[in-house]
Amino acid sequence: MNYNIALIHGDGIGPEIVDEAKKILDKVCEVYGHSFTYKNVLLGGASIDAHGVPLTGEAIEDAKSSDAVLMGSIGGDAKTSPWYQLDPSKRPEAGLLAIRKALNLFANLRPAYLYDELKAACPLKEDRIGDGFDMIIVRELTGGLYFGERKTFEENGVKTAVDTLSYNENEIRRIAVKAFEIAGKRRKKVTSVDKANVLDSSRLWRNIVEEVARDYPDITLEHMLVDNCAMQLVHNPGQFDVILTENMFGDILSDEASMVTGSIGMLSSASLNETSFGLYEPSHGSAPDIAGKGIANPIATILSAAMLLRFSLNLDKEADAVEAAVEKVLSEGYRTVDIMSEGCEKVGTSKMGDLIAERIR
Ligand code: NAD
Repeated sequence: MNYNIALIHGDGIGPEIVDEAKKILDKVCEVYGHSFTYKNVLLGGASIDAHGVPLTGEAIEDAKSSDAVLMGSIGGDAKTSPWYQLDPSKRPEAGLLAIRKALNLFANLRPAYLYDELKAACPLKEDRIGDGFDMIIVRELTGGLYFGERKTFEENGVKTAVDTLSYNENEIRRIAVKAFEIAGKRRKKVTSVDKANVLDSSRLWRNIVEEVARDYPDITLEHMLVDNCAMQLVHNPGQFDVILTENMFGDILSDEASMVTGSIGMLSSASLNETSFGLYEPSHGSAPDIAGKGIANPIATILSAAMLLRFSLNLDKEADAVEAAVEKVLSEGYRTVDIMSEGCEKVGTSKMGDLIAERIR
């Protein structure tokens, strides 16, 4: 089949890592008989340099007309880059928020997976790691506290600030459906995280998630309070399959989960809307400190491309093949500098891409 993929190379190490992910997608085409048509789209600093703004209407249209978007990362060094002399609404990050909004990307997926070979990087003790862990956090991305009404005011000489946490049943239902659909492709367990002992928004969250669960009788649903979940992630991370949660809880828990894997250069992410369309990007930033040196780890972006195959193109077999190729390269002892350990062979960005591509079957 032919698919249209928008590529956002971005800034810093973005172009280097996206080139490697494209190499992998091209190999998937060759092995599985697909064809991908790519369109380069500018976002962030690269767009500021070319057009004076971090995102143009044309870029949004190009992204919308594709089946999926694969992105590197955007942004520069805030101390030295001229992009940060601009008004905040014109800086690289504003473009990222704007494209997420324009594409209605309400579901953020962040897997946290511990590779056997990288166990040494995990900050948890052996007995906590057990047989490892493989979870995915499904976070609501366009509602809740970050999008509610807010104000700061002074009353009788006392400064006060208010942020509003609001969810309606439709917002909860659509993210819950995503989580159950994803669990159906995995180990069939959803842990819905809330603060239902205190918050009304969480009580509604819990009710709607239970309603959705009735449509998925083969999936186990459990509820967990967010404070307990924060503890369980470091106490027994192996218990989780899909964690479903609202925007702010997800923001905090997904960073916690990624820290327990210990290697930022390995973590992929996806942001999806109601259709199968999605924007896929590594969880790390544009690493300006190592840009252009050919040493960045491309694996997070390559695994993001695997998520693109799985969630937007419904090519599970192909996604499995990419993930297996990454595992194989790690098990053979090849490492980029950020995950290097004794006895392994150090390779650069492009070589790592070649090694993974060669192992796609
Ligand atoms: P960062 O993730 O870019 O870098 C943190 C550290 O991790 C650096 O030492 C970097 O060299 C290293 N690192 C990150 N990715 C790596 C990789 N693939 N291989 C090897 N090492 C890697 O975070 P930061 O320094 O806080 O931010 C740099 C820029 O990235 C900022 O402009 C920030 O706004 C932007 N940023 C963008 C996104 C995004 O595009 N979604 C996300 C986070 C940060």
